[in-house]
Amino acid sequence: MKFTVISPEIYTYGAMLIGGILKDKGYDVSIKNKLSARPKDTVMMSLYSTLHLRSPILKEFIEDHRKKGGQVFIGGPVSAYPEIVLGELSPDAVLTGEGEGSILKLVESGISKDVPGLSYYDENGEIIINTPAVPASMKRPVPLIPTDIAKQDIRGASAYIETHRGCTGTCTFCQVPRYFGRGIRSRDLEDILKEVREFKKRGAKRLSVSGGTGSLYNYKDGHIDEDAFVSLLKGMAEIMGSKNISSPDIRVDCISDKVLDAIRDYSIGWVFFGLESGSNNVLKHMGKGASAEDASKAVLACREHGLKVAGSFIVGHPYETEEDYQATKDFIAEHCLDDCFVSIAEPIPKTPLADLVLKTPMDENPTYIPHTGEYRSLKLTESEARSFDLQMHADMYKPNLHVITDQIFNAYLAGVRKDGNDVRNATELLFKYYG
Ligand code: SF4
Repeated sequence: MKFTVISPEIYTYGAMLIGGILKDKGYDVSIKNKLSARPKDTVMMSLYSTLHLRSPILKEFIEDHRKKGGQVFIGGPVSAYPEIVLGELSPDAVLTGEGEGSILKLVESGISKDVPGLSYYDENGEIIINTPAVPASMKRPVPLIPTDIAKQDIRGASAYIETHRGCTGTCTFCQVPRYFGRGIRSRDLEDILKEVREFKKRGAKRLSVSGGTGSLYNYKDGHIDEDAFVSLLKGMAEIMGSKNISSPDIRVDCISDKVLDAIRDYSIGWVFFGLESGSNNVLKHMGKGASAEDASKAVLACREHGLKVAGSFIVGHPYETEEDYQATKDFIAEHCLDDCFVSIAEPIPKTPLADLVLKTPMDENPTYIPHTGEYRSLKLTESEARSFDLQMHADMYKPNLHVITDQIFNAYLAGVRKDGNDVRNATELLFKYYG
């Protein structure tokens, strides 16, 4: 049996992991970040964006591959809503949850009720959803690392190494705690470092720590394990060099002096906070579990430790009022963040935000309401206008001089239009299946 593992556009860690498990069992496996496979291969596709489900090119590839006699199975984050995946893309089956726990069972048994987490159509056209897979073991073979991993650049990193799974957070827009659970399962440090060495050997230039919040590594009994986090970053830096390690996402309430010192000493020296909003009203509705005041203290603490701070913000939450949005602008003006990422609230199926969006009439959803203010000539929606405005506003307050040239203006405009379209696409999919 021959396999092609595909994750479109980027080699995801999950795809490499599945490839590694199959390779370890002696199968002939290739890994690709584009839609191509040997005609009779079994394709294991790892999809990480709801937008993949609306891609005609992806649908055509799957149809074509199945016509040629190959099978296509889909896993990854989108597998959390198998009915949409089956309805939109028509693969042979969807492997829901932590696929590495049941992939070998699937290979051995084929499409059957014996494979935990598998969803498929039966002979009557009814969707069968097997019992969920149990959380997978954190012991696993080395991932299948593609030969061109050096060319990959995801926010500056060749790959995101999984150090632990789960998140203690309850953010209503996020899939992580719903997919991996709120308990933290951490990998052994030695296993992680062995993998880092392997990535380096294969040409990876910079590695990043993945997982909802880096410092939750080895989290136990309600406490972060600062020493474990220090050893993790130190160990990775000794292999890759500290300038080639980043520890991207972290919660404002999961830092300490030791954690921040480790980020300064053993990584590129940036902290990335999911700040989301400067309004406590919105933060409460987002289930963030941290206030704007907590965020403020965290930013100041990072500066005291000599770190650069980037923040991500979400605009267009159904509960975000004009005053809430202004509070976000005020937060940015006060803290002069070194970098900012802005996105429009995307209702990922089966999250509380998706439930809220389903209950919100379209004419009250900022992602559909036409903007009538300052940017009305650009014909944006309210969410798009806020995203556009916030990016330019954040640029103005960055510590270094930033000039909004025509080129930057147009790039932001194109970006928010695309983001708005993508979120409306995701919303329409949501209404089609659950509305
Ligand atoms: S802290 Fe981050 S990973 Fe955890 S639930 Fe919130 S957004 Fe998701």
